Amino acid sequence: MKKKVIVLTGAGISAESGISTFRDSDGLWEQYRVEDVATHEAYLRNPELVLNFYNERRRQLFQVKPNEGHRQLVRLEERYDVHIITQNIDNLHEQAGSTNVLHLHGELTKARSDRNDNLIIDIGDRDIHLGDKAPDGAQLRPHIVWFGEAVPNIEPAAVLCEQADYFIVVGTSMNVYPAAGLIHYVPRSTPCYLVDPKAVPISRPITIFQEKAGTGVKKVVDALLSE
Ligand code: NAD
Repeated sequence: MKKKVIVLTGAGISAESGISTFRDSDGLWEQYRVEDVATHEAYLRNPELVLNFYNERRRQLFQVKPNEGHRQLVRLEERYDVHIITQNIDNLHEQAGSTNVLHLHGELTKARSDRNDNLIIDIGDRDIHLGDKAPDGAQLRPHIVWFGEAVPNIEPAAVLCEQADYFIVVGTSMNVYPAAGLIHYVPRSTPCYLVDPKAVPISRPITIFQEKAGTGVKKVVDALLSE
């Protein structure tokens, strides 16, 4: 049976594709307050502003492409059972060709009913406007986990982490919980790797590649493929 590689990715892996990260100095969120666009309260207060914010993110996604970091992770599937747990709402891992991608914080290319969290539809590159209805007649909202909302995929993600033979972290500041806590489910004996140009605080032994995903992920992948 193939060994399991679990990869936790954050906004940093998509940075070289041209999608802004969250907290870097030139990050997207320098221009927006999280409370204005990425909470349920914001959506209730000003749904149009929030829908437009995600419409812009979706349009941007359709103008960019996966980068070397995304592509290198696909190579790992030659030898390993690879599962990517991503905090990203873009679909660049899927576009690159990764088979198993679990989205913790939702997906830009999907929408769901305001009334029923389980009524999810594919919208591709389409905008969502006020008055657009789900099949149950309720307003459509972005299929995004906003700050303060529950993270339904955290449980399957924790199970994957418990099964990790190798664990790789790429491009996340490890600031957003519960995603940042997933590393605690990884067995102590599992070799861990980190790729990030900044020093990310991680309280366990980990092999660090302090560089961008575009070069760093290849080094981890080469190391694992030559084991
Ligand atoms: P973050 O912005 O908090 O951290 C980004 C990390 O990426 C930093 O540690 C930074 O040093 C690193 N980084 C920057 N450029 C990099 C590169 N070229 N290669 C590798 N690493 C690089 O991001 P986070 O920890 O993912 O938390 C952000 C939250 O915002 C998540 O919840 C996510 O859902 C959301 N978000 C998603 C996207 C997306 O879907 N692409 C973009 C922005 C924010």
